[in-house]
Amino acid sequence: MRPLQMVDTKTQYLKIKPEVDAAVLAVMESAMFIGGKVVNEFAENLAKYHNSKYCIPCANGTDALQIAMMALGLQPGDEVITPSFTYIATVEVAALLNIKPIFVEVNPKTFCIDPEAIEKAITPKTKAIIPVHLYGHAANMEKIMTLAAKHGLFVIEDNAQAIGCDYTFSDGSVKKTGSIGHIGCTSFYPSKNLGAFGDGGAMFTDDEELAAKLSMIASHGQSKRYYHDVVGCNSRLDAIQAAILNIKLTHLDDYIAARRQAADFYDQAFANNEKINTPFRDGNNKHVFHQYTLILNDVDRNALNQYLAEQGVPSMIYYPVPAHRQKMFDAFGGSEFNLPVTDWLTERVISLPIHTELDEEQQSFIVSKVLEFINK
Ligand SMILES: *Cc1c(COP(=O)(O)O)cnc(C)c1O
Repeated sequence: MRPLQMVDTKTQYLKIKPEVDAAVLAVMESAMFIGGKVVNEFAENLAKYHNSKYCIPCANGTDALQIAMMALGLQPGDEVITPSFTYIATVEVAALLNIKPIFVEVNPKTFCIDPEAIEKAITPKTKAIIPVHLYGHAANMEKIMTLAAKHGLFVIEDNAQAIGCDYTFSDGSVKKTGSIGHIGCTSFYPSKNLGAFGDGGAMFTDDEELAAKLSMIASHGQSKRYYHDVVGCNSRLDAIQAAILNIKLTHLDDYIAARRQAADFYDQAFANNEKINTPFRDGNNKHVFHQYTLILNDVDRNALNQYLAEQGVPSMIYYPVPAHRQKMFDAFGGSEFNLPVTDWLTERVISLPIHTELDEEQQSFIVSKVLEFINK
């Protein structure tokens, strides 16, 4: 059996090595490392895949979120409503801009922000809602967009974990997550579903004016070369990463299918085990399984994590501390938020290896070790 890993980007690379190597060499020969044709082509291809009018590449997913908040004109003292059950990047950038994160609960089934909790948290200072499509499952975008329209709020989607996820509205229309809110943000961190061989990120919007602002801010607030209209930052996707991503984008739907197949295998293996809740899936949402995350009932989660490690099975706790309990947010009154569902989940979740290269032998082994511990 091949050794087990949370993600296996190496085997994935070896399958497309000739294509990728040629594309990287071509960039090296062109010596066009920053901007240029390859980056523009990737942005166009991704916008098309995503069915968004504009895709603006940037240096990473965290920058994408920050630039989105800047482009929407969020000011110090404004409030944004976000889940606490998320990766820190979502809320860190708000704090960096002195925007107050208002942490709300997630739905314990989907792990995503709870629309009813959002509505209760809206104040006159609220400017935006930041749903996170956690683990590859879409937040309830229909309700979120309705709420946003009713209260005049912006929606910034953190789509770092869900690129390629199809979300179906009640009228039957289908959109990719990240193309529904005013701005969608994503990351090409190597372990993400569309991963580069380094850092990368992108922002999506259908609004021409907003697209211009996003690219201006990502480029030193520059309207034309050496004319700087607003305070911006320096956030670029380099051409080598764009060349690699352009190739991997053509495989993204296959990668998603492989992840979903691996999830099906786990689902079946753990079905009817009352100590294990497998990830929730619903009809209006095509889960892309960035993570395969179980909720354990009446199991010593940390001991399972430890036991699996001893057996050569990696597993991860995403995330051991929710955002509102991070020291970082002491100054923002983080610990004053009362989020029992978030705390409850934080103690019970465990993520198993899921990626495009898992085979049945590996998965059977993982399952047997999990069940061995749980049923003992
Ligand atoms: C990975 C991730 C980010 C940040 O992306 P980077 O490219 O690492 O900056 C933001 N939000 C979520 C939910 C993520 O998983």
